[in-house]
Formats: sequence, C-alpha cells, structure tokens
Amino acid sequence: MKLPTIPPLIPDGRGYGRQQRERSRDRDRLAEQPWRAWYHLPIWDHPVTGLRAIQLARRPICEKCKRARATVAHHKRPHGGVWELFIDPNNLESVCKRCHDGEVQRGERAGNYAARIELVAGVAIPTNVLHPQLARSAVPLTIVCGAPAAGKTEYVRQKAQRGDKVIDLDDIIADLAGSATRTAEAKRRHLCQALIERNRRLALLTSGAPAWFVVGAAAGWERRRWADGLGAQSVVLIDTPLRTCIARIRRDPLRAPIADELEEAAHGWFARYSASNIAREIRVDGIGGFV
Ligand SMILES: [Zn+2]
Repeated sequence: MKLPTIPPLIPDGRGYGRQQRERSRDRDRLAEQPWRAWYHLPIWDHPVTGLRAIQLARRPICEKCKRARATVAHHKRPHGGVWELFIDPNNLESVCKRCHDGEVQRGERAGNYAARIELVAGVAIPTNVLHPQLARSAVPLTIVCGAPAAGKTEYVRQKAQRGDKVIDLDDIIADLAGSATRTAEAKRRHLCQALIERNRRLALLTSGAPAWFVVGAAAGWERRRWADGLGAQSVVLIDTPLRTCIARIRRDPLRAPIADELEEAAHGWFARYSASNIAREIRVDGIGGFV
C-alpha cells in the first residue's frame, strides 16, 4: 500500500501571534482532554444541585489551611478523564484558591503526576505508563487502530514488509506470559509491565526499519494524541462492524478464555468511538480482507 504524504497537523507556532497561539493551545488542550468540558455540565456546575456546590456547602472551610473560605472543589485523586472518579463525592475536598493554586496545582504538575493511577481491566496502572511522554518516531510509522478483533493484527501481517517492527501490546503480553492463548489472568498479571515495555519500544523508534503500532484508540482524541506524539506517517482505522468483531471473538480458540471480556471490550470500544479530524487517517474495510 502506498501511503500518501500529508503535511503536519498542527501549525508549529511560527508566524502566530501570542494570543492566537494561546487560543490554539486551549483548543488543543480541549481536544486532548475532552473531559475539561465536564466542568460545565450541570452535574458539576449547577449552583445548587451541582457536585461543586454540594461539596462547598458541606465543607465551607479550606481543608488544607483550615482557615480560609473554600472556593474550589478539588479532586483528591485526579480523575484523568475517568467519569466515576470525576463524580465520586468522596473524591472531593474543599480548598481555598490560594491553597489550590499553590500546593495542589504544584503537586499535580510535578510529583503527583507519576503517582496518579487509572484502572484498566481491573488493574491499577500509573497514568504516566498509560499515557507516556511520546517522542516522534524517526522511522516511518503507521498506527493501526480498531476494536478488539477488528483485524488490526491481520492487517499489519499483510502489509508489513519483512524486517518491519511491530509494536502490539497483546504480543508483548503473550511473550511475557509465554503463551499466545489469551487469559484474563495473564492480562492482569502482565499488563503493567507490558505497557512499560510497549512504551520502551515506542521510544526506541530512532532508526532502522519502518514500524507499525497496533492500538485500540477508540476516541478521536486518543488517535490524534498517538499520531501527533509519535509523528506517525498515517493512521489506519480498521472499520469492522461490532457484530463481526464479536463473531470473530467467539470463533477464535486463542481468544476463547477471555471471550466474554473481549466482547465487553468490543462493546466498550464502539461506545467510546469518536471521529477524529486527523488528515492522515484512512479507513479500511475490515470485513473482506485487506487487498
Ligand atoms: Zn486554604
């Protein structure tokens, strides 16, 4: 397959005024972190029944300095886009603006970032392992995205040349587990280490053969984050209907031990799916084979 050459997505800032740069940075931030919009939802923002108002009425004094009137309902454990953490009243504390802007925000920017945890398939994974700092690939990189059993691995198998690098979390877990049969136990046990290894391999795309990176990335902002962060040449979205994914999951003996989990994950992928505005994204029909 010949991949089209398309110019970079984001203007590099040259020739932009400061205001325009800031506005475009705000836009990027919202595109990358769509949960920022949650702070405008009534469940958070309503002056009487919103979570923020309830928290501040319940604990009106700053829980840090115990003196000033609190004006910020702060997430003790950063929600990082996890809805359940965002709306959990037990995850909130009242702080005054001074304490929030000082201690709390400093903590979020520095040390706490590494200590933040997200739950993936029931496994606690540090946020910086899940969303690592990305370095641009020095070799031509294609990112292949899609639901479980959409046909990502098969696509890469058909398109990659001999010697190309393939980075696929499922392969890494299988290597660590010593078996290609996918079990819930192997995933739980090896997920964190496999993610670290995946990140290491992504960071090592500094020279050599072209590379392929296989990742679910249902949300448009996820695909965009990977594509921009890694400087991918193109993003391929394998477009396979949910019912076909499920039929494949049910048929595949290597997937049989976790068929239920994968089926749920497939439903989740489609629920989370959103379009992206990535110019380099191509859609590939996942049903008829990739010719
Ligand atoms: Zn305070």
